Amino acid sequence: MATFKAWVVEKSEGGQSLSFQDFDESGLMDGDVTVRITHSGLNYKDDLAMTSKMPVVRRFPMIPGIDFCGVIEGSNDPAWKSGDTVVLTGWGVGETHLGGFAERARVKGGWLVPLPDGLSPAQAMAIGTAGYTAMLSMIVLEKHGLTPQTGPAIVTGASGGVGSVAVSLLKRAGWHVIAATGREGETDYLKRLGAAEILDRAELAGDPKPLAKERWAAGIDAVGSKTLANLLAMTKGGGAIAACGNAGGMDLPSSVAPFILRGVSLIGINSVTTPQQPRREAWARLAKELDLDALAEMTETVGLKDVGDLAETILAGQTRGRTVVEIG
Ligand code: NDP
Repeated sequence: MATFKAWVVEKSEGGQSLSFQDFDESGLMDGDVTVRITHSGLNYKDDLAMTSKMPVVRRFPMIPGIDFCGVIEGSNDPAWKSGDTVVLTGWGVGETHLGGFAERARVKGGWLVPLPDGLSPAQAMAIGTAGYTAMLSMIVLEKHGLTPQTGPAIVTGASGGVGSVAVSLLKRAGWHVIAATGREGETDYLKRLGAAEILDRAELAGDPKPLAKERWAAGIDAVGSKTLANLLAMTKGGGAIAACGNAGGMDLPSSVAPFILRGVSLIGINSVTTPQQPRREAWARLAKELDLDALAEMTETVGLKDVGDLAETILAGQTRGRTVVEIG
């Protein structure tokens, strides 16, 4: 019986259990491409899946890990051949389809993108779903017509994965970046990534007014809830906020005032099912535009067997930036 090492979430009497196992290869799900995974990344959703704090896992047993990079071992998809190095983010991997915290995966060829020129597999997973989401967010703000000349950009959850990459990308593109964080101790870190100003996230946590003093033209929000409502109330006329996360809650206690009185736009980001063309465009831009020294600064690396022990830390806000899982 061929097996590979994997973290596995199973249904148990108490709800869910997580264990590091030898997983039987015959248990891999349908797909036309088999990948030897070399790297994965630890994302917020993975921690929700591993700790069962939210019902992220919708098939049991499940291998968590919503993204991975690896080398193709076998392909029935003419678009791919053995030896190709590929990147996967989203498509329900780690939620409804066996995921990346493992030595093997079998997936649909249409879910994959080639490793972008200029990035190593480790760098691709240092970017991971979080960094790719930050780039999708920056792209929608640009498509809205916003530029560094239209005013500052705010990033919430700034010391987290999405936030750290967003700060760095926006700075590189010429924006004056305001980084909102709850961690005073990360001020120097955020300034090294490119933040021009640090805002205590407590200032965005109060009950939102319909409108407040205009402070920024653009924003990338990883937090949601009152934070997002306050962001909208403080956005300049014609500005836009890209909403990509819910680290602070799923609700949105806002009003229509920013939309109808200031023409503010709220743009949603869903990285999971982004079609191939914008997906490849985002990865190509990340390879070209992200400061790789900044990426190294925001990245820690752990081994596959350590992932389970880290499950609680990201949700407790104890990790900063990105965590790469080295597997190969
Ligand atoms: P991280 O845990 O790395 O970062 C989240 C950050 O949010 C924390 O570092 C913290 O930043 C801040 N934060 C945490 N809890 C709270 C709170 N209660 N109130 C206010 N701020 C808080 O997660 P990621 O960056 O990987 O993901 C961020 C969010 O984006 C998650 O909700 C995730 O699910 C979502 N996401 C969505 C995607 C999509 O396709 N739409 C794709 C990827 C991620 P600080 O300490 O600096 O304040």
